[in-house]
Amino acid sequence: MPIKSNFPDVNLSVTDIFSLLFNRKEKPFPDNQVIFQDGEHLERKYTYAQLKQLSTDFGKGLKSNYGFRKSDVLALYVPNDIDVGPVVWGTLWAGGVVSPANPGYTVAELVYQLKDSGAKLLVTHISALENAKKACEEAGIPESNILLLGKDGDPSRKFKHWSMVRNLEGTSRWRTPKISPKTDLAFLVYSSGTTGRPKGVRLTHHNMTANIEQVSSAEPHLSHDGSKKVRGIPDAPKGQGDKILAVLPFFHIYGLNCLVHLPVFQGVHTLVMSRFDLEKWCRLVQDHQVTFSYIVPPIVLLLCKHPAVEKYDLRSLRMTNSGAAPLTRDLVESLWERKGVRVKQGYGLSETSPTIFMQPWESWMSAVGTTGVMVPNLEAKFCAVPAPGEESDGTKELPRGKIGELYVRGPNVFLGYHNNPSATAECLEDGWFRTGDVGFLDEGGNLTITDRVKELIKYKGFQVPPAELEGYLAAHDKVDDVAVVGVDSVELGTEVPRAYIVRKGGAGAVQPNDAEEIIKWMNNKVANHKKLRGGIKFVDAVPKSVSGKILRRVLKEQAKKEFKEE
Ligand code: AMP
Repeated sequence: MPIKSNFPDVNLSVTDIFSLLFNRKEKPFPDNQVIFQDGEHLERKYTYAQLKQLSTDFGKGLKSNYGFRKSDVLALYVPNDIDVGPVVWGTLWAGGVVSPANPGYTVAELVYQLKDSGAKLLVTHISALENAKKACEEAGIPESNILLLGKDGDPSRKFKHWSMVRNLEGTSRWRTPKISPKTDLAFLVYSSGTTGRPKGVRLTHHNMTANIEQVSSAEPHLSHDGSKKVRGIPDAPKGQGDKILAVLPFFHIYGLNCLVHLPVFQGVHTLVMSRFDLEKWCRLVQDHQVTFSYIVPPIVLLLCKHPAVEKYDLRSLRMTNSGAAPLTRDLVESLWERKGVRVKQGYGLSETSPTIFMQPWESWMSAVGTTGVMVPNLEAKFCAVPAPGEESDGTKELPRGKIGELYVRGPNVFLGYHNNPSATAECLEDGWFRTGDVGFLDEGGNLTITDRVKELIKYKGFQVPPAELEGYLAAHDKVDDVAVVGVDSVELGTEVPRAYIVRKGGAGAVQPNDAEEIIKWMNNKVANHKKLRGGIKFVDAVPKSVSGKILRRVLKEQAKKEFKEE
């Protein structure tokens, strides 16, 4: 029997994202409410009304200047910026699909996503323009279809700023196309899922709006005026209301739905940081009386350990929410003891838009170590974990409370992978999505994640697909066979990728500087978060099942022991 959420079902809207955010009949905040403010250049800010206008203008500009049509893809290759929201919503208004990419991607990584998603336009930032130009050339996107966002434009004026893209014809014939919320795509975010290289995750308008409403109804605690009270938690400062500090990357689903969409839906003032910097984060919290921030476990670790944190008063934070990777009880307690800062957990995936479990504010200290309870309108089941080398088929359902692989079904579950029916079939059946994560529910419905059976490695919350690294390494002339697995680094507070390599010519051929040479070669090819920080180990053979699959769990166990010894 599927397990239902503890929350009663919510009557979800069936509409497109732009309409949910900007055409609401009743919204609990005024049009002149500031939503986004640049955390460094404070004079840059947008009110709710400005966001709506800018988005519509951009959408019309895309249609009139670029012939942008329904289902066309616009890729984003930018650090966080207050301009991201209007660029995203303008694209959606024009009926398009947004595909956000990590601005740290190398040219080759970006080319892969541009080609795979079929992007027609690319919006980038001056700091990423050089890579963007090279990638667009390779992907066949003309330079005239590269736009910039952010504070600074192009000094040579060759590349247009997005804000200059509007309907210059003076006619009002440009309209938003009819959107079918449950089948029309809004986003193609990239995730490796349970296995293989990154794939486009097909998220519809309804997937995203459902998750906005699922999360907001379970956690209606933030407001523009500080009127929301939660037992045992201090109120937001009178007059100011809540203030969010947005630091997680907007290109990742966690940042995209929680930090780009939710603040507009809830009408909450949000300070945007272009990238994480510990002292800047602390200073902004202290100076602006920030009340809420989404963070990841490595940030919690820094807040617990870094000496610079001592200088700052962080007690304006009513709550913080950690997600994207496991968070230990020790860190939760240590942050509370050191700084009086509460941290609770949420859990989700790109494929679930993202949030599926969240710890209610009230239980931040009582359900520590769990990822909390299921969001409304969601069902779950736990199935027997497949033996090493075997496939899970989702049929051996376990009784509630037993440890098993988690499957979920609900309105926020994606449509499948872009142009990849076999990968879709491996994880989606009858609406049930196989998460690749293992855990159990306690009596209160709180989920504890105990393991991950999919290949994925997460470095500080960022995806590192082992198959991608293996693809590169296999091409090195000293490598005969290779497997990459994740291993926990206590020092960094995150998983790191480690490679097991069979040396060409056998173990006897290994030279003292081989590992260093291969690591350097590899690290030049990938974005920072995919670097081989776990090192290389030369082995006689990569352990494989009879069907030739890498026995990753065997290697993970081996890596754990070796890492302790090193
Ligand atoms: P992504 O699609 O990049 O959001 O990655 C999703 C994966 O991140 C999940 O399948 C989990 O393995 C991991 N993850 C996300 N949140 C948590 C959490 N709170 N605790 C443990 N793992 C998590």
